[in-house]
Amino acid sequence: MAQPSIIWFRNDLRLADQQAVAAACSIGPVLPVFVLDDETPARWRAGAAQRWWLHHSLMALDADLRQLGARLILLRGRAGTVIPDLAKATGARTVHALDHYEPWAKAQQAEVAAAVDLRLHDGLLLSSPDRVRSGDGGRYRIFTPWWRALQRMMPPPQPTPAPARLEMAAAAPAGDTLTDWQLLPANPDWAAGFGDWWTPGERGGWAQLGRFIEVACDYDVARNLPAEAGSSRLSAHLHHGELSPAQVWHAVEAAIGRQAEPYLREIGWRDFATGLIDQFPDYHERPSRAQFDQFPHRADDLDTWRRGQTGYPIVDAGMRELWATGWMHNRVRMIAASFLVKHLLGDWREGFAWFWDTLVDADLGNNALGWQWIMGSGVDSSPFNRIFAPVTQGEKFDPDGTYVRRWVPELAKMPPDFIHRPWEADAMTLLAAGVRMGETYPWPVIDHVAARARAMAAYDAAKSGEQ
Ligand code: FAD
Repeated sequence: MAQPSIIWFRNDLRLADQQAVAAACSIGPVLPVFVLDDETPARWRAGAAQRWWLHHSLMALDADLRQLGARLILLRGRAGTVIPDLAKATGARTVHALDHYEPWAKAQQAEVAAAVDLRLHDGLLLSSPDRVRSGDGGRYRIFTPWWRALQRMMPPPQPTPAPARLEMAAAAPAGDTLTDWQLLPANPDWAAGFGDWWTPGERGGWAQLGRFIEVACDYDVARNLPAEAGSSRLSAHLHHGELSPAQVWHAVEAAIGRQAEPYLREIGWRDFATGLIDQFPDYHERPSRAQFDQFPHRADDLDTWRRGQTGYPIVDAGMRELWATGWMHNRVRMIAASFLVKHLLGDWREGFAWFWDTLVDADLGNNALGWQWIMGSGVDSSPFNRIFAPVTQGEKFDPDGTYVRRWVPELAKMPPDFIHRPWEADAMTLLAAGVRMGETYPWPVIDHVAARARAMAAYDAAKSGEQ
């Protein structure tokens, strides 16, 4: 009788273009397993919004496996112990999995490989990070030359279909139930509205990709307008591996040809960010530039920022969109992140942690790259003196205030001239809009010009502290 093989799923929760699935089922019976491992990542175990997504994604994967004749085994504990124990109990000789690059994923892989025959396959990224090398064989730290080098290796391989059938190993244990894991919030159920925005799972991912392809030609302009559905909103599907980047690449390129370039470049940023985490496993915790170790961060207004009560409508709209949907538009992520670290002098790691807990797409590489880029402390980042002006940004990218009206309903009746600066409106305008500054909507937590001067002084102090 053929030995069963374990398919070890992590954030690669799909059956098509999944080389671990393809390899295992070509040999014989399979044991598809997902391990809820909160021990190996410790501090950075999956955040609350990710857990909501995971619950639904695992349900979808189990349903898809059942259609092919198998089912998903759910086990909880340290993957480095649970996977070898499963192999021992079932007589499985080989474990197939996709290669992952977060520090804890590498630790899991090392522990499993020390006990059983672990076969790691590519497919998480467009290309495995250590294959993209410069002329002298080194790794890149700057996006543009890295992107040129990656493009020479593209397109990625054509995606492979899901298997037509799977044979479930007879020795498969029952495992846990999803209810046992309590991944969903209970009281209060702050994720109650998430289902209106997202359909986790492979099918949900394809449906969203289909919707995006209809408007993909306008991506280069529309992606900057938070009121419109101009970006793909695939980040959580990509993060959980319900779609592979190769599938997305080929689908978008087949639909819009050369016009796909700006979009493919963004997919490239995801690979690049994972490559940074692979090179610098503490990129989410340590600034790459030493001068930022001395930066005089403050924590006084952190809650004001988290709750979307800063008095700057575009920032508050973004923070409330995040709370209500588990996602925030990229342009607004940049504005809100810049506001925290520069206007409020908050520590970028506090912003990283809040995003980690509240984003359905929270991803170690992308989140760390985003925060270090905004702070100016990363290996490839924007200069510190680029301080996003929230009013100017709001007026440029949300000119009639549609986005602000959607997420900050107390300003819904403000005319476009004042929607991004309600504190400058005259008494009649405020009265007509039903806004009472300081009562129905807060005064700005800090004046923009004063905040800019304070941020630059803090930066200069950090720089001189280093010398
Ligand atoms: P699209 O514009 O449609 O882009 C397509 C895909 O490309 C995205 O789904 C994503 O996988 C990738 N991508 C796009 N922009 C970036 C980028 N700047 N860096 C890396 N990959 C990118 N993205 C996450 O997936 N997880 C995070 O935790 C995350 N944290 C961020 C924190 C900050 C402070 C900032 C400024 C950005 C962060 N981003 C993060 C990047 C970006 O905001 C999101 O990927 C994007 O908003 C997701 O929406 P979309 O799928 O519609 O993007």
